Amino acid sequence: MRGLLDEAGLVQVAAAASGARPDDVLTTCDVAQLASVAAALETATSSRDAAARVVLEVARRRPFRRDNAAVAWLAAAVVLAGDGLRLRIGGTTAAAVVEASPRLGPAEVGEILDQHVEPCLPRGRRALRRLIGPRPLDGPGLFPCPACGRLLVQRRHDLVGSGVWADAARAERVARCAVEHGGHGRRGEPRRRDVVPA
Ligand SMILES: [Zn+2]
Repeated sequence: MRGLLDEAGLVQVAAAASGARPDDVLTTCDVAQLASVAAALETATSSRDAAARVVLEVARRRPFRRDNAAVAWLAAAVVLAGDGLRLRIGGTTAAAVVEASPRLGPAEVGEILDQHVEPCLPRGRRALRRLIGPRPLDGPGLFPCPACGRLLVQRRHDLVGSGVWADAARAERVARCAVEHGGHGRRGEPRRRDVVPA
C-alpha cells in the first residue's frame, strides 16, 4: 500500500515521538534501514497489515538514533487512524512486542493489534465510554450480591458500582444473582415458593 507512510512520513513520526526536529532526525537516522522499513510497508495488504509491519520493521531495524520503540507504535497508531481505528495498548504489552519482534511475523502482530484497536469515537462518546465502558480487569475480582451476599465473579462489562452508577450496578448485580443462583427474585424479593402462605 503506497502512500501510507513513506520515508518522509516515518521521519515526521519519529520527530513527533522523540520531540526532535525532523531535520535532526533525518541527519542522524540510518537511511538504508529507513528505506527498508518504507519498502516493507509498500507490500502491506491492508492498514492492519501495514501497522503490524511498521511495528516489526522499526523494532528490528532500529533506523532512528533513539526512541525506536516509541516510533514503532506511534507509526502504527498513525496508520490505523487513517482507517478510523484507535490504538489502545499498554506500555507493558508494547514493550513486550518490540522485544519479541525478531521472533514474530506480521500475522502474529496483526492478531495482537486486533486486541488493542477500537473504532475512533467522537469526543462525547469517548468521555461516556470512560464512565460506563468496559475496563481492563486487574485479575479475578469478586463482589457480594447486595441482596443475599452470595459471591459473584466480576466481569469486564459489569457496571462500576460507585458514583451515579451505584444504584444501577446494585440492581444489575441482584438481577444477575437471581438468574445465576435463583436464591431470590430479580429485584431481591424472596422467591414465591419461599413465601409462607398466610
Ligand atoms: Zn443474591
